[in-house]
Amino acid sequence: MFTHVIRRTFIPCLIQRSLSIATTNSTLSSSPIRICIVGSGPAGFYLTQNLLKLSQTIPTTIDIIEKAPVPFGLVRYGVAPDHPEVKNVMHTFTKIAEHENVRFIGNVHIGKTIGLKELQDFYHVVVLAYGSSVERSLNIPGEKTLANVFSAKDFVGWYNVGVPENAELRPQLDRTDRAVIVGMGNVALDCARILLSSIDDLAKTDITDQALDILRQSRIRHVTLVGRRGPMQVSFTIKELRELTKLTGVQSRLNQEDFNRIDQNMIDKLERPRKRLTELLLKTVQAKHSNEKVAERCWYLKFWRRPKQFNGKTTVESIDFEHTQPVANRSFSEENLPVQQNQTIETIPCGLVIKSIGYQGIQIDPWLPFDHERGIILNRQNRIDDRPGFYCAGWIGRGARGVIAETTTESHTIAKRIIDDIEHGRLINLRDIKSGGDGLVSLVKSRQVRCISYEDWKKLDAHETNLGLSKGKPREKILNIQKMLELTAP
Ligand code: FAD
Repeated sequence: MFTHVIRRTFIPCLIQRSLSIATTNSTLSSSPIRICIVGSGPAGFYLTQNLLKLSQTIPTTIDIIEKAPVPFGLVRYGVAPDHPEVKNVMHTFTKIAEHENVRFIGNVHIGKTIGLKELQDFYHVVVLAYGSSVERSLNIPGEKTLANVFSAKDFVGWYNVGVPENAELRPQLDRTDRAVIVGMGNVALDCARILLSSIDDLAKTDITDQALDILRQSRIRHVTLVGRRGPMQVSFTIKELRELTKLTGVQSRLNQEDFNRIDQNMIDKLERPRKRLTELLLKTVQAKHSNEKVAERCWYLKFWRRPKQFNGKTTVESIDFEHTQPVANRSFSEENLPVQQNQTIETIPCGLVIKSIGYQGIQIDPWLPFDHERGIILNRQNRIDDRPGFYCAGWIGRGARGVIAETTTESHTIAKRIIDDIEHGRLINLRDIKSGGDGLVSLVKSRQVRCISYEDWKKLDAHETNLGLSKGKPREKILNIQKMLELTAP
């Protein structure tokens, strides 16, 4: 009751004061609404952009806090090096970061350097947009013990942009000509493309020199992607499939029998993206029959199989798969068919395994309501359960799926919800916070951690870009955190 009364009286007061500040055209020094966004990936940046647009009559400051010394999340550490057009969003993000009311504070690990609750001393609104950083496990024999079995997250971290902790992964690509990728999503296709692409093409991207050297020695010629469901349930998208079908010197080897069940009537009932994807898959099956030439390298899709165990003495030599089949159930659409295993076991030989079965988020602070099963923050319409003033955005709020464009659309809705809550007095952290980001930076400093500003990052950015240019690449990434800190030093 008491809180309710305070809420009704104080917040309009705060807003009114802010509004009057805005109309008298003065700076935001006295009482802006202080917002903090944890995570500098697409969700964090697009949300900032939308908050700036929607809060024009409410003086607002937005601090983006990032645990890495560098910004951009998976755009830097996930998106494949041969997708430079996707990485171009970094230019948009730079404009956002350089807005006068926005501040980037890197190298601050929320949940370690600073607790979540402590953020309330500096901010009225906290949005958690810290992504999904852990890969799911299969929990089957050989997964953790055999060499050359990797999670896609680690493999991507190694080849792609050198996530510092994966820089030393060193997959042995010269000891086998067969790789199996477990999973049929876009990340699985990214890994297949990197394994099958020509070195000359990869050398023009921002792939690390270290990864390029190992890929140069690669003997991999056959890449098989295995999924536990069928061709109508794959989770990759048409762009990634098309890229794989167009690789020079690489042939697709899809099995016609896997597609016999799909007729025109089924295709016509699908939503447009799935319809176009299925049509391309069918076209790809047929293309195989009209091109009998021996290919340098090949990729295969094997459906209705679930891994049961990895075999080998010290390094993986094969995988046992159990066959699966759809469970007939009218309450599920074709795309969401559940499966059950049957008794058939098949052993597929391979010397490299990449498990690409999805990412999930982690609870960064025990105070945060969390769904450990789904790996997301407990929330209703992005408002975190029982934590007024706390919101979530991006993969950590809705689960690790979807491309950047989905995050863009979602962030507009979330920004509207936050502004609506501010305008309707639904915040309860009502203190007149004077220090905001400055206070946070002082606290971080007192804990012997150096914050990285956007200006600091730009020094590292220039260094990486220049290093890349000298090698004919858009960028050569620095892998070592200590080196990153040195290069961003004031
Ligand atoms: P992230 O991008 O993961 O950003 C989260 C940020 O939070 C990170 O910077 C992280 O360091 C930071 N953080 C984490 N914990 C903390 C903490 N405790 N304190 C402070 N900061 C923290 N989409 C496309 O459109 N095209 C593609 O080609 C494409 N390729 C992809 C390839 C891979 C391998 C993956 C995994 C995804 C790809 N995606 C692609 C999807 C896209 O990357 C996601 O949709 C998007 O990055 C999700 O944004 P996010 O901000 O929620 O998470």
